[in-house]
Amino acid sequence: MPSFAFEPPPVVALPITGSEAVFPVRRVYCIGRNYAAHTIEMGGDPSREAPFFFQKNPDSLDASGEFPYPPHSTDVHHEAELAVMLGSGGVNIPVDAALDYVYGYAPALDMTRRDLQAEQKRLRRPWEIGKAFERSAPVGPVHPVSVVGHPSAGRIALTVNGELRQEGDLSHMIWKVPEMISYLSDYFELAAGDVVLSGTPSGVAAVSRGDVMEVEVAGLGALRVRVV
Ligand code: MN
Repeated sequence: MPSFAFEPPPVVALPITGSEAVFPVRRVYCIGRNYAAHTIEMGGDPSREAPFFFQKNPDSLDASGEFPYPPHSTDVHHEAELAVMLGSGGVNIPVDAALDYVYGYAPALDMTRRDLQAEQKRLRRPWEIGKAFERSAPVGPVHPVSVVGHPSAGRIALTVNGELRQEGDLSHMIWKVPEMISYLSDYFELAAGDVVLSGTPSGVAAVSRGDVMEVEVAGLGALRVRVV
């Protein structure tokens, strides 16, 4: 066994409610435009065309409760989302079996440098600099399916400094959780530790340093994150 040329990076791991164990992260997939009202506010067509995905990095996920305002943007937006954590994986997973692969769920944020994302869209370039930057996905503790089941309906909301900004219902997802898992598994080999961010309801808007964001997802409690 060869030795590492340098110390390998630590495994990114998220707290699990009611457990000493932590959830080791492998990959992060994010769906775009998955609530009709948000699709319309972003200038898109909410008809049920094929879903599209982008990725963040495992270490984009951050459970510290602080979000460092990133450089090179003056328009950083919150996107409140339900995160889906996989406990197993595979390819060509049928929709009706897909929930068996879920380990748990967490409230999360898909923070976005909207000005850079808009520029990349205009230039027809990939979105990484708008989406996959440092600590761009604040996330709450993982709630195991054994405790919370599979939340498919219920309120998802975000406040900034106590003021309501985003509100929707999980049942309004255009592509449901099992459909997203099945679709992704046709294009990628999914595995335990993969995380899927399931899209955001309408009301995305800018944050500033000092703001406190609070994401609430029915059954999963609140994720409180301070912009620093
Ligand atoms: Mn998003």
